[in-house]
Amino acid sequence: ILDMSLRFIEEDGNDYQVLGIAYDLTRVRQLEKMQKDFVSNVSHELKTPVTSLLGFTETLLDGAKEDPETLTQFLEIMQKDALRLQQLIQEILQLSRDGKTIAYDDQKIELYPFTEEIIRTYRKTIKEKKLTVQILGDTTANYTTKYELFYPIVKNLIENAVQYSQTNETITIDFGFTDFFYFTVKDTGIGISQKDQERIFERFYRVDKARSRHSGGTGLGLSIVQNYTELLGGTVTIDSHLGLGTTFTIQLPKN
Ligand code: ADP
Repeated sequence: ILDMSLRFIEEDGNDYQVLGIAYDLTRVRQLEKMQKDFVSNVSHELKTPVTSLLGFTETLLDGAKEDPETLTQFLEIMQKDALRLQQLIQEILQLSRDGKTIAYDDQKIELYPFTEEIIRTYRKTIKEKKLTVQILGDTTANYTTKYELFYPIVKNLIENAVQYSQTNETITIDFGFTDFFYFTVKDTGIGISQKDQERIFERFYRVDKARSRHSGGTGLGLSIVQNYTELLGGTVTIDSHLGLGTTFTIQLPKN
């Protein structure tokens, strides 16, 4: 709120004073715009798989289902669309979850097996791309935090490292304690330009839309990482160079 007080002398010689309060609407407008953009992005992202699903069901019902090969092929595409919708909905819900309204309990996390378990989820792609994944952190290290928020942070970072690595590359995961607790995920993948680094935490922002969509990316992963890290009282930093690779570091309060 900006306070203003104007004083002026009119032609009649009288001294007038005008008091007024002007609200700073800039911030309110910015938030409104962000909300509108979010809704319009969500609708757009949801529309794509739904349109595809409707198209394929219609073609199948029009007779394409009689050919067993076409039937299988179309069903596979439809399954992909449905999975995409499922992931989008899950991530949108994750983003709208407010840590302040849901009281998660602290849990002691054994970091090494926890990390191994997440890596295992991506074993198929890791094998296909012949990636080397190494964990440098202490096998006995543990950290107590809200699992529901910590898990998606680590999962998204590892998923991205796998996704944006090319064949025969190496992913290095480290965690430990200095003045704070840190968790880093380093890859030798495609890297992110300085300019894009400024935007990758925005909802739905993707450097290469086609590539990200093809690999099942929604552009929401890093927004979730940033949101949740902040809810846990920490920060995310990125160090990346195009063509050389990327390191994401999460810093959280020590316990
Ligand atoms: P997506 O679902 O597309 O991966 P994210 O929010 O997780 O969405 O990431 C936003 C964008 O940042 C990605 O589309 C990609 O262009 C870029 N990105 C994220 N992580 C990496 C990485 N490890 N290496 C290169 N690019 C990355």
